[in-house]
Amino acid sequence: MEDDRQRAIEWAQEALHDPNTVILAINAVGSLAPTAEPLTRATPYEVAITSATGRKRWHRLINPQWEAKYLQQINLHGATPPALEAAPTFGEVRDSLLSRIAGKRVVTYGRNMQYAALYTALEYSWLGDNLPEGSMFPDTATTLKELARSRWQCARLRHAEFQNEWDPLNGHYTLPPLFPAGNALQHCRALSELMQQIAVPTLRYAQLNATAEQAVRDGKSHIPRPLSGVRLSRISASRQAVLQRSGGACENPDCPDPRYTSARSRNGTYLLEVDHIEDHAKHGEDLPRSMIALCPNCHALKTRGTVTEEFRETLRATALANHHRLMADAQQR
Ligand SMILES: [Zn+2]
Repeated sequence: MEDDRQRAIEWAQEALHDPNTVILAINAVGSLAPTAEPLTRATPYEVAITSATGRKRWHRLINPQWEAKYLQQINLHGATPPALEAAPTFGEVRDSLLSRIAGKRVVTYGRNMQYAALYTALEYSWLGDNLPEGSMFPDTATTLKELARSRWQCARLRHAEFQNEWDPLNGHYTLPPLFPAGNALQHCRALSELMQQIAVPTLRYAQLNATAEQAVRDGKSHIPRPLSGVRLSRISASRQAVLQRSGGACENPDCPDPRYTSARSRNGTYLLEVDHIEDHAKHGEDLPRSMIALCPNCHALKTRGTVTEEFRETLRATALANHHRLMADAQQR
């Protein structure tokens, strides 16, 4: 699993440095044909392409040729039905779009939907945008040939490997959520930022830390669970941040075997335990700087050992020093 994570980091570094990388984001709505069920076939109404660093290369609204009454029911993320009706059809921008992705490494977040929307739009466009009801798509070979001119890469899968959280129920990495709704250009830029965070793990740490601080400000750190007594939840961003900071090794500076954890749990995750240095119940804050990743031995020592206070002081200083080191590094980038 650590190899997968390392490969995801290398992938992001390589994609960011490759001048052939473009980021593609598509917003799509359902069927083209007003008579068909909406949402049976996704078709693009907005396409954005940026460089790997998020610089805008191309951004177009596209008339999905939907009836206005359907368009009005949809959140178009800033676009309006009249703007879409005034926009060119996919057929009119097709060649322009294809020329911008041909020969490129095309990075998307959640490839399937965007690829499918593009695929459908191409099929329609070869046939002149107005298919008779019930017609087949006979031009699959041309469509596939066009799409195969690009190297398609899904950053969401790399993100899942980077997060490295195994979902034992489904037998794969836990898929991170999609980006919050927004226009296509915002999605490209969010993806560019994410790639930079994956490529430079200290940036990721800083970002997770900011998420955790926000959650604490919003009062989300303590969630009473009446059914199982009061359980104090941990902000998952804090936990992820601390694991990130640990680099997979026990953070106790006196740990006799920090990489003991290279023996993994049954589902392949680290045996590291992320713990509050002060008891969370005694006001230990839910933030990375106050938490530490410990191997099972050191964790037992902390909770059941005889040198508790002295040990706690060491951990406190170590967590804080590691925290500041990563934050300072992130700030320099
Ligand atoms: Zn240890």
